[in-house]
Amino acid sequence: MKTSSERWKSFSCIIIVILLKGVVVLKIREHHPPKKLLQALSLEERFPTHHPLYPLILKTLRREKSGFSGEKKIDFYLHRLQFPYVGLHSVRLAQNQVHFQVDTLMITPTFITLVEIKNHSGTIRFHSGKMHQDYNGTTESYDDPITQVNEQKELLRAWLDERGYTDYPLETLVVMGNSNSHLQIDPSQIHHLDRVIPINLFNEKMRELNEKYDRKRILLSECHRLGKLIDSHCVMNETCLLEALSIPPSQIIKGVRCPECNRISMKRIKLRWECSFCKARTHTAQINTFKDMYLLYGPTFNNKSVCEFFDIDSNDFAYYLIKSMNFKKLGRGKGSIYHMRFDRTKEFTYLLK
Ligand SMILES: [Zn+2]
Repeated sequence: MKTSSERWKSFSCIIIVILLKGVVVLKIREHHPPKKLLQALSLEERFPTHHPLYPLILKTLRREKSGFSGEKKIDFYLHRLQFPYVGLHSVRLAQNQVHFQVDTLMITPTFITLVEIKNHSGTIRFHSGKMHQDYNGTTESYDDPITQVNEQKELLRAWLDERGYTDYPLETLVVMGNSNSHLQIDPSQIHHLDRVIPINLFNEKMRELNEKYDRKRILLSECHRLGKLIDSHCVMNETCLLEALSIPPSQIIKGVRCPECNRISMKRIKLRWECSFCKARTHTAQINTFKDMYLLYGPTFNNKSVCEFFDIDSNDFAYYLIKSMNFKKLGRGKGSIYHMRFDRTKEFTYLLK
């Protein structure tokens, strides 16, 4: 049973109430770094740099990092909106077994907006159902984000209909988060002109949309309930980078990560961990190493896997390290397995710093 202070703590963790000049903004769901990004960050130090797959890991890392930092740029603008709304980030829902993802979802009493955020640099063009990026003399093509966000809208509409939120006006926006990008939209592409905007115009566009709707569908308190309902149905994208790139687990560098310099370089010296590179000393280097293990091998492990991943040869020491973490234990004796749980929104900052 949770105590009342624990209940309040978990409540306050997911709901950040920001009062801005009397405008109530309820942020129900934070940005969640994608699993692929965290895995790539972990592998940056835990994979041999000379391995032929290493450049692919770095390429994934750059792309995922750029996408995630773009998603977070919207916060600066959201905090300046002068009308009440309920906000959710990294929303991923399933409708009839089809998963769909929305970077930012804004619920107001009169309408809902789905925001897709792109962080590409260079010149961005739209042609033949694709988005083209011209950058440094090369062109890369992607799915048209307008098509993407329209599909998300239809799936969200069906999801809301099933839960009694019918006829709620849904708006879509594609926001280009990179201030170095140049949008090139043909005047005939009316829908793109209206829906693809640079991030500095986001608030102006949101004010325009807010003025378009005056019929209240639900009260703000009901917006909050709907936001909580959506949050409770969110599932994480568990796309695994190791599988996607066929990374052999045997190649992963084992050992304990230094909390100061992030290298896999901690040695156990006189009951403490000491970094052989930066000489940092600590009693708690096992924490981030368990998190790495969680990212790369999944949430379940046993004593033997700790010996292997931490590169230690004592079962007793492995047991001591496991005990220090208070993980959930399943089974007894030598056959015990353990289950790790970490909050993706705040427990991997050591990789994101
Ligand atoms: Zn170090």
